[in-house]
Amino acid sequence: MAHIKLHYYPYDLQLEHTFTVAVHSRTTTPVMLIELEYDGIIGYGEAAMPPYLGESQASAAEFYKKLDLNQFSDPFRMEEILDYVDKTAEKNYAAKAGIDIALHDLVGKMLGKPWHKIWGYSSENTPVTSFTIGIDSPEIVKEKTLKAAPYKMLKAKVGLDNDKEMISTIRSVTGTPICVDANQGWRDKYEALDEILWLESQGVVFVEQPLPKEQIEDIAWLTAHSPLPIIADEALQRLEDVAALKGIYSGINVKLMKATGMREAHKMLQLAKALGMKTMLGCMTETSCAISAATQMSSLADWADLDGNLLITNDIFEGVKVLDGKMQLNDKAGIGITKKAE
Ligand code: MG
Repeated sequence: MAHIKLHYYPYDLQLEHTFTVAVHSRTTTPVMLIELEYDGIIGYGEAAMPPYLGESQASAAEFYKKLDLNQFSDPFRMEEILDYVDKTAEKNYAAKAGIDIALHDLVGKMLGKPWHKIWGYSSENTPVTSFTIGIDSPEIVKEKTLKAAPYKMLKAKVGLDNDKEMISTIRSVTGTPICVDANQGWRDKYEALDEILWLESQGVVFVEQPLPKEQIEDIAWLTAHSPLPIIADEALQRLEDVAALKGIYSGINVKLMKATGMREAHKMLQLAKALGMKTMLGCMTETSCAISAATQMSSLADWADLDGNLLITNDIFEGVKVLDGKMQLNDKAGIGITKKAE
């Protein structure tokens, strides 16, 4: 009888530009590439671990050493397998996501279908993706904005001391809708509201994580007074966090690396919709592996921010594409990727 075999490899993603947001700056992102092998079929997964979130290639390797996936002889028992993975140790969200994505890829390949079809989503219902412009000098912001011309939505990182300069610089080049992400960088709810009113006049469509996640009452006040939707990102991790955010935020940003993978991220999007909240599907710096996995469920997202693979120079997978700014699914079984020849 066949059994599931786990292989994992550290890999460093090279960013095309130094990426600066309100709390940090970086030029590389460590990931762990996962292969789950069963009966001659390989499912691919990825754990992306930007250092500020606390996971690393070492912590992921330590977690994977604890797993005994060889005990499972039926990959279709996904709930049982992923419950076992989740209960093996606390946290390790991205490391768990790597296994979850690889198992989805494996099972999809065994069924001969991509996950968007297994779940029943129509491939034309994918959202446009925003293209992220990190905090930078006007010259670089202008250059990045010009390069982002095919995208139908731009995501501007703000929250340092040059918010208006960032937005005005983008607006000097294009009228494309913008969303902003303050990464908890603002402090005062009244100043935040003033800034949001100005952002609205600049064609901004929503605001992500304006204030520190601990300022719950201030955020609820801001959401009640803001003409633009206020989206939670740092304020939530997993499924258990979603319901408590209703009434405090307008919606949530779901990411596979926060949510331990596709199984739970899919449930989070469904729950948020059932609660009448806005939904956003985001990412870390990732290869086309994790981006293609997230795109399988992107019909559930009001907005997508799935550009992580477009910001790196050494993607080793071919997967979903962006055409005229919109996510394009393909018919490849599993999560829709092939590994590039080495
Ligand atoms: Mg964010």
